[in-house]
Amino acid sequence: MGRIVVLDQNMVNMIAAGEVIERPASVVKELVENSIDSGATKITVAVEDGGRKLISVTDNGCGMDAEDLACAFESHTTSKIHTSDDLRAISTLGFRGEALASIASVVQVKAISRTKDELAGNSIEIDCGVSAPVTPCSVDTGTTIQVRDIFYKLPARRKFLKSANTEISHIIEQFIRIALSSTDIDLSLTHNGKDVYRLTGRQGVREKITELFSQEIADQLLETQSDEKGLHIEAYLGKPAIAATSNRLQYIFLNGRYIRDKFISHAIKEAYRGSIDPSRFPAAFIFIRMPYEDYDVNVHPTKIEVRFYNANLVHSQILACLREKLLSTDLDTMARTPHQLAQGAMPPLRRDSRITEAMEEFFKRHRPAGQRHLDFAPDTRLSSWHGLGAREGTASPQDALRRMAVPPSKFMQIHDSFIIAENDEGFVIIDQHALHERIMYEQLRKRVQASPLESQKLLVPESFQLTKLQQDTLENNSQLIERLGIELVSFGPKTVAIQAFPVLLAKAEPADFLRDLIDMLTEKAATLDSDGLLDEVLHMAACKAAIKAGMKLTDGEIEQLIADKETVEYSSNCPHGRPTVIKFTLKELEKQFKRT
Ligand code: ADP
Ligand code: MG
Repeated sequence: MGRIVVLDQNMVNMIAAGEVIERPASVVKELVENSIDSGATKITVAVEDGGRKLISVTDNGCGMDAEDLACAFESHTTSKIHTSDDLRAISTLGFRGEALASIASVVQVKAISRTKDELAGNSIEIDCGVSAPVTPCSVDTGTTIQVRDIFYKLPARRKFLKSANTEISHIIEQFIRIALSSTDIDLSLTHNGKDVYRLTGRQGVREKITELFSQEIADQLLETQSDEKGLHIEAYLGKPAIAATSNRLQYIFLNGRYIRDKFISHAIKEAYRGSIDPSRFPAAFIFIRMPYEDYDVNVHPTKIEVRFYNANLVHSQILACLREKLLSTDLDTMARTPHQLAQGAMPPLRRDSRITEAMEEFFKRHRPAGQRHLDFAPDTRLSSWHGLGAREGTASPQDALRRMAVPPSKFMQIHDSFIIAENDEGFVIIDQHALHERIMYEQLRKRVQASPLESQKLLVPESFQLTKLQQDTLENNSQLIERLGIELVSFGPKTVAIQAFPVLLAKAEPADFLRDLIDMLTEKAATLDSDGLLDEVLHMAACKAAIKAGMKLTDGEIEQLIADKETVEYSSNCPHGRPTVIKFTLKELEKQFKRT
């Protein structure tokens, strides 16, 4: 006798629920998406005990009549698609006709609804797949769906629910995605009777971000748009200062649907490449509009992933849009004066307070008469200084100074670490290591892309011993090492000697550099692609080859540093995302000294 049986419908729904309904937050997502699809302009979400006890969603949308209410909770019932043609261009959030059936199979549901054409409404109750008949009731136009005791008949799944705090944080995350994607709806969320969020449809994206995240994050966003090749992009890009250790501040929306997409994430990463530490994630809110026919949403049960028919186009358009904005923006950090801090704006960064201290010291010790005036005479010491020497294709310092937004007329180095330079609006403080590190990084990157770095034979080859693992790492990365302009010869079974070393890295100690390089490659080679790996190497090289804090600089070197700031991209931040320059305006100073 055969062992195969056809599962009854409720079993089928419960199995489907395993995919779609992971936890209370999934119920919130599905119910609110249905409310949005119903054309609602106002949606309220109320949850109790992290959604474990109750989730209630009320909308003022089109509502359902008695007949629809009776079948909405059956499986494969939908009003959103009718024929296979409809699958080719889906404009609603839902279309699978599965969510309500899945939810109703694992919870107690009560749904109340009324269409605008009816005088009275109807309600229905379903307990884990068993439904009672529809009964009339009096209610406003729209729909309320209440979900109680999720998974109460499924102890194995109920056990996997986390604390109310954890579950509400998942609900909040879903709510944020919905709130950002549907801009013109009044949306509220309450937990145990207390307001969590109350947003109105009149608020723009920036206002919503302020409410949902913080003023600090909203203030750090650059806005940009593009509309080309059938792709409308609106983006809010976080300045490097608010980059996070995870992608928790990256939100991508496609035609009002929150999605995750590896091409778009990659484009964001590429756009910021070099402006933040590669291990950090920039904040980015990206809203894309494109024809529904140009992608498929029917690839994932929760529709969080889509398949673009032309993923390369999406990638390149987004990369171009973001990069243009980031490159054309002055990302220089404005000083936060004590007066602003007292108003409780933002806590000072450690580095800022160090600079403020350094400044106070400086003004105590130096009188204005002691300042040196910049003299544009060429400095012969310059060309011998590695990494800052005059280069082909680089504007002369004079040229650069003329073009500069901040032409310094006077400057001075303090504590052998910072440079203070006057400009039209006030003055700037430059962190010499951070800025030079950025300049080195950009120069290395540019050159290594064209050809292997120019190298120089060492007078005495430096030899050192390797472990088996280190030897393997060297072998596996021989191409990369060649590109860097490092020449190695093996010297006996476990020994190598460095014969030639890149000119640009002359400030680094070759054996030391190679040892660190091998360590880094051993650690990172498995997880990064070749671009990512090269980028890591360049970061390391730039840091080692850059002038350090505590080094005395000549006037010529300082001039060169200031001039080079204008010739490299992303010069406002070092490759780790820290500021290279902090600006102080005369206006602020006058305010501080109570002159205005
Ligand atoms: P889908 O959203 O994929 O169509 P669902 O199971 O989520 O499937 O919902 C089934 C149907 O119930 C929807 O197609 C819609 O017609 C109706 N419906 C669900 N929620 C609402 C609501 N809040 N207002 C009006 N109609 C709704
Ligand atoms: Mg739905």
